[in-house]
Amino acid sequence: MKFETKVIHAGIQPDPSTGAIMTPIFQTSTYVQEKPGVHKGFEYARTQNPTRSVLEANLAALENGSHGICFSSGLAALDAVLKLLEPGDEVISSNDLYGGSYRLMVRLFERYGIKMHFTDLSETENVKSLINENTRLLWIETPTNPMLNIVDIKALAEQVNEKVLVCVDNTFASPYLQTPLDLGADIVLHSATKYLGGHSDVVHGCVIVKNDALADQLRFIQNAAGAVPGPQDCFLILRGIKTLHIRMDRACDNAEYLAEKLLSFDKINKVYYPGFADHKGHDIAAKQMKRFGGMISFDLVENTMENAEKILSNTHYFSLAESLGGVESLIGHPASMTHASIPYEERQKTGLTDSLIRLSVGIENKEDLWNDLRSAIER
Ligand SMILES: *Cc1c(COP(=O)(O)O)cnc(C)c1O
Repeated sequence: MKFETKVIHAGIQPDPSTGAIMTPIFQTSTYVQEKPGVHKGFEYARTQNPTRSVLEANLAALENGSHGICFSSGLAALDAVLKLLEPGDEVISSNDLYGGSYRLMVRLFERYGIKMHFTDLSETENVKSLINENTRLLWIETPTNPMLNIVDIKALAEQVNEKVLVCVDNTFASPYLQTPLDLGADIVLHSATKYLGGHSDVVHGCVIVKNDALADQLRFIQNAAGAVPGPQDCFLILRGIKTLHIRMDRACDNAEYLAEKLLSFDKINKVYYPGFADHKGHDIAAKQMKRFGGMISFDLVENTMENAEKILSNTHYFSLAESLGGVESLIGHPASMTHASIPYEERQKTGLTDSLIRLSVGIENKEDLWNDLRSAIER
């Protein structure tokens, strides 16, 4: 099955009892048993839910994995991955990452004796100096958030030994543009809130793996810790996924157009977009991604928060909001919004300046989007 067919059909069958073509929302907490222990494979809805099972099968197929495991949010999915670790274990992570992931790692998991190291993973060499016998997890985001650096997944996966789990947060690319398990990753994670859901109406997360033993451990955590999504949320993600390829293609078309246009402005200092031939990670992106994504960041020559605010509060189609990956375009200010939980010094190291603006390009008309941005920048 090709990707465009998988989004509609993989793991999905019409409901056998009614013929309903859409997966029913099984809004139930428990299931009747014939005799103790004799049931239809479903006992209690934290452990199994048929709507969730269909979504999990579909996600596994999209990422070329064997098991999908769903959670109530992207961070709940990360929380489950971190619970694979023991006190004393060490993690090496991208230093340019989602602010909430950083907060969960540092503010919560460091308290339980897990040691975090943050480094620029777009320099593959940086892992060598941090890796030791306690390293258990390599945490990769690519493209990174919000600087849109590219990390070479295959090169890093080849560099670490089999004791190190390689996990890729694939939220920015979506499985349509990038399938990390094919590049040597052990775990793929999504905030399905973003491109998979695609309509800014649900919070959801998932992990996908190939290895059966790893899947068993993650399923144990899913059930034991209980951060599971409700069936309606699973239904919305299933529904969103059906148009993922079309939405993603349009978002990429629009982002390519806008990134070029932004370059023409004197007021703009740098435009970060992996689709540019002179972007540092362009060749790797071209190798490991189908296209370059719908996210763009840029900053201003007059690098102040006030100048950024003028743009942020004067767009009309680009709504000022956290999040990304929906059909509607969003504009955001990482320093004060998504990345406010990362200390100032850490941010500066990655180029996340006070005037940095991040765009999540939606699927509207590209000229309307450009006129909207241009008039806000020209003010
Ligand atoms: C949003 C996001 C998360 C967190 O997901 P939630 O669904 O908000 O919990 C993790 N990683 C990335 C890259 C994100 O954009």
